[in-house]
This record gives sequence, structure tokens and C-alpha cells, in this order.
Amino acid sequence: MPTYIVMLGPPGVGKGTQAKVLASQLELPHISSGDIFRENLKDGTEMGKLAQTYMSKGELVPDDVTIAMIRERFERPDCKNGAILDGFPRTPAQAVALDKMLAVFGGKVNMVPFIMAPDEVLIERLTGRWTCRASGHIFHEKFNQPRQAGKCDIDGSELYQREDDKVETVVKRIQVYLQQTTPLIEFYKSQGTLVEINGAQPIDEVSAQLLSFLNK
Ligand code: AMP
Repeated sequence: MPTYIVMLGPPGVGKGTQAKVLASQLELPHISSGDIFRENLKDGTEMGKLAQTYMSKGELVPDDVTIAMIRERFERPDCKNGAILDGFPRTPAQAVALDKMLAVFGGKVNMVPFIMAPDEVLIERLTGRWTCRASGHIFHEKFNQPRQAGKCDIDGSELYQREDDKVETVVKRIQVYLQQTTPLIEFYKSQGTLVEINGAQPIDEVSAQLLSFLNK
């Protein structure tokens, strides 16, 4: 049976960082909707340009565009054993679409780690975050410094500050999360897949908590 894990939580809580840990432990692909939009933007595709008009304002890209993009990603063979989803679904319509997509592969969402942290922690993490240009590896100017300033420890690529990690956009992204994504907490609770994780702890402790849930 394939294993599909949905990382749920506000922007900046560490979904991407923890998704990478799970992906490497479980040898599953890490699918980040935000990374796919940013890759499209870098490649200058029409979808990338459209997504950017929403991303730069901290708003969500329309459901139809996002769902179609994820469906296409699932068609690649590396997803046949499952995936770690990071940033998708973000609305109830996306969650329903995901269940339908996975049913086609005979799969379902197996576990939903819901990572939480207070708003001031999120804002500090996002505004101090540095992202690797090549593969989206994540560092922080205080909490997870790269060995060499401005360079990714993993692939040596340049680190940059995402445009939507500016404080005004960060506040908007947290509001959008509260309005559009928090209904998914009840959705997955009612499916019995939600596990709550304290994301205000250091990275290694969050990973340890996550892996202990996975082993249960
Ligand atoms: P992230 O990298 O997950 O923080 O996403 C960055 C931005 O990409 C978001 O603020 C949205 O504009 C867009 N985005 C990513 N995932 C989704 C999604 N599932 N639905 C709609 N928009 C998304």
C-alpha cells in the first residue's frame, strides 16, 4: 500500500523542513506545491507567471490551477509508493480533490501531522529564513545557520530570501491560512488521521516527535 502524508500547519511552522526529514526516512518524494510554483516561475511558464500574481500578495493560487498541477505531479512514476505533501491541500476543495486523486491509485491520506506554533514564532522564522536557489533547502539566520553564509550546506547553491517572506506578506499569509486552511484540521480529525505536533520546539525535537508518531 502506498503511504501518503499531508503536512498541515501555518506558513513558517517548519512543514518543509520536516517534510524533507520524512521524505528521506521513508524514501518517498517530497512534493511541495510552493516549490513547484517557484520552479515554474523560474522557468518562465505561463502557470508560473499566473501563480506569481497571487504568491507575491500572499494569496492562494486558484484551486483549479493548483489541483491540476498536483494531479500532473502524481502521474510521475516516483509517486507510486506514496509521497510527503507539503503545502497541498490548503483548502477544503483541494482536500476533497486529493482524496479522489489518491483513490485512483488505490491509496488514501494515511497521516496528517498538524504542526502548530504561536504567530510570533512563525513571523520570526519566516522573516529570518533563507532558501536554497537550487532545491529549496531551508536555513535560518538564527536557528539553522548554514556553515558558510549565503551558501547551501547540502548543494552549495546560493541562498536567497523569498519575496513573500517580507513581514507584510507574511502577516497576510498567516491570515489566509486561518481563513482558508484551518477548516482542514476538522476535515482530517474526522478522518482519524490528524496528529498534533508542537512546532515551537527546536527542529530535531519536532522531527523526533514526528518519527515517534510514524512508528506507532
Ligand atoms: P509555500 O511555499 O508553501 O509557502 O507557498 C508559497 C505560495 O504558493 C503560497 O503563499 C501560495 O500563493 C502558493 N501556494 C502554494 N501551495 C498552494 C496551494 N495548495 N493552493 C494555493 N496556493 C498555493
